[in-house]
Amino acid sequence: MLKPVCSLLLALFCVLAVAVSGAFAQPFTLPALPYASDALEPYIDKMTMEIHHGMHHQAYVNNLNAQVKNFPELEGMSLESMMARISTFNAAVRNNGGGHYNHDLFWKLMAPPGQGGEPSAALMQAITEGFGSLDELKKQFNQAAATRFGSGWAWVIVTGEKKLAVTSTANQDNPLMDVVEVKGTPILGVDVWEHAYYLSYQNRRGAYLDFWWNLVNWNEVNRRFAEALR
Ligand code: MN
Repeated sequence: MLKPVCSLLLALFCVLAVAVSGAFAQPFTLPALPYASDALEPYIDKMTMEIHHGMHHQAYVNNLNAQVKNFPELEGMSLESMMARISTFNAAVRNNGGGHYNHDLFWKLMAPPGQGGEPSAALMQAITEGFGSLDELKKQFNQAAATRFGSGWAWVIVTGEKKLAVTSTANQDNPLMDVVEVKGTPILGVDVWEHAYYLSYQNRRGAYLDFWWNLVNWNEVNRRFAEALR
């Protein structure tokens, strides 16, 4: 009984939030998911995707737009430029700008099971050089994701030396931000906030991470890897 009532309230809140926010100029908008909300099942369930995309990501977009009055220069600024000078803004821009960038990327980095392709020959070569094998990369990535205390993300980045590295960031930070310790261009990332997995996996973050590899959109990772090398 509680679940349908909660869903209804959440839906109502969303409609109201869109109605209110529509009254303002909105340079940032919620991108549509590149697949149906149930397309990642059984590894990520439909309700998790609906709440994660429609509520959490929408809130980052709305909250970021609300900051444009404090920082007019945000209007028309690309997210990448914002990340590179995130230290010049306040915590709300850092959290919500990061939240918008990270989720926009996260949706694209996943594909329905069986549709994500394979790592390209060039990417596999870099993985072998950097980690020895794809299994070892997965192990180090999952370790970074599992040991991120609280909420955050794990990443595979291309560093300034054009090498692959595994890293993790807290909250909604990401490797493009001028404030993080290990900087680079993210080509793969996973959301380890509890909102990303709790409905299906509860406290079993490790199980979520193991299953998540079935959803990786290697075609997009390959494209981003090639772009980062240019
Ligand atoms: Mn999230």
